[in-house]
Amino acid sequence: MMKKKILIRFGDMMLKGKNIGFFIKRVRKHLVEKLKDLQVSYQFTHDRIYVDYQVDDEIDIINRLSQIPGIYSYSVVYVSNPNIEDMIKTAVHVLNVEATKAMMHIKIETKRADKDFPMTSQDITLMIANPIFQQANLKYTIDVKHPEETLRIELRKDFAYVYLRNHKGLGGFPYGTQGRGLLMLSGGIDSPVAGFLAMKQGIEVDLIHFDSSPLTPLESTQKVIDLAKVLSKYTLDGKIKLHLVPFTELHELILKNVFDPYIITVMRRMMYRIAEKFAIRNKHLCLINGESVGQVASQTLPSMQVVEAVTKLPILRPLITYDKLDIIKISEHIGSYPISIQPFNDCCSIYVPKSPVTKPMEVYAKKYEATFEFEDMIYQLVRNSYTLEISSDTHIDLSSYGFTLKEAMTTYQKESDVI
Ligand code: ATP
Ligand code: MG
Repeated sequence: MMKKKILIRFGDMMLKGKNIGFFIKRVRKHLVEKLKDLQVSYQFTHDRIYVDYQVDDEIDIINRLSQIPGIYSYSVVYVSNPNIEDMIKTAVHVLNVEATKAMMHIKIETKRADKDFPMTSQDITLMIANPIFQQANLKYTIDVKHPEETLRIELRKDFAYVYLRNHKGLGGFPYGTQGRGLLMLSGGIDSPVAGFLAMKQGIEVDLIHFDSSPLTPLESTQKVIDLAKVLSKYTLDGKIKLHLVPFTELHELILKNVFDPYIITVMRRMMYRIAEKFAIRNKHLCLINGESVGQVASQTLPSMQVVEAVTKLPILRPLITYDKLDIIKISEHIGSYPISIQPFNDCCSIYVPKSPVTKPMEVYAKKYEATFEFEDMIYQLVRNSYTLEISSDTHIDLSSYGFTLKEAMTTYQKESDVI
């Protein structure tokens, strides 16, 4: 069996001038944490990481790499002795194992990190190309201008690396290097995807969900917990904080007091007000949500303007210009889709006004809000919220604990340690 390693590269991050050192350290830390239960060892160079591993773990390692923000690409490289004969042998092996079809247009590219090697990179390529193509099982065509694949050979002092493929990593920036944000997480398709995109871009994310049980079934909050598990894969320590806000009382007040077309507008203004309180307390620099322009009445530009007028925090909307189909693709990719499409309503879909305004005016929103006392209630809701720390091995089944968030949480708290 030929010896292999995984070579990891950093992308955009490398443009970051004096922050590079800090950024790369962060990715290293994340990687070491992610693989801590496996038998691996590392070589860290200034711009790459090599992972030495047990062959059995390869797929597992690759899966985990794809959850680390800041990794731009990686390759499985075959390790050869640094002499012509062995490099040819290894290259033939790589083609036999990895190349997928005959007559493929291939280029060979040699790089020489060991400048003492007595031949130039080009001379090496010329010398090994013919023997490689002659000995490989399939026949290939050399094409240096428009190759379908490039066989790369990196020659170092003590060994050479030979490989065919670059796999794309998550990209973005190392987790947490861009500050903290609070994601408004519903049980729908969009918000988990928005959260994933923010996390991949280096924002450390906490989650907030507004629960309206028993107006909405507790299963919709269970969906949120399950979605939080999905998102926890991308954090540095595999844990993510979820604030559950008991929103029911305020929800009922809104339904009772607000003119039908303005219900969603006012409800969303309340959510932003509450989220802002959490954000300030926990040093979040922004709120993040899954809105996409034009998707529903509450996501027109005039709606967004009236809703976000209640907070000074920047609102990040990673999906703002995405088509639904593209959002679904990402949600399938990260594994949130099957959870999101389970048929339980969250608080914005349980009560859909007959004709929601698409161009609300803030004066009216304020007028309806002035008809009931909400400030104190908001403070109370914040105080009565529950915070869970979710990881991929969290097991909570809310519906087995009761019908309301309070019931469920009281039982759950008795059984475990809620913060
Ligand atoms: P999603 O698929 O994310 O639910 P949506 O298209 O259904 O989005 P809305 O229901 O209008 O849109 O919600 C817009 C955004 O508001 C959501 O993406 C989410 O970020 C936030 N949001 C909605 N309901 C809740 C809730 N109950 N708790 C927390 N955030 C919410
Ligand atoms: Mg929704």
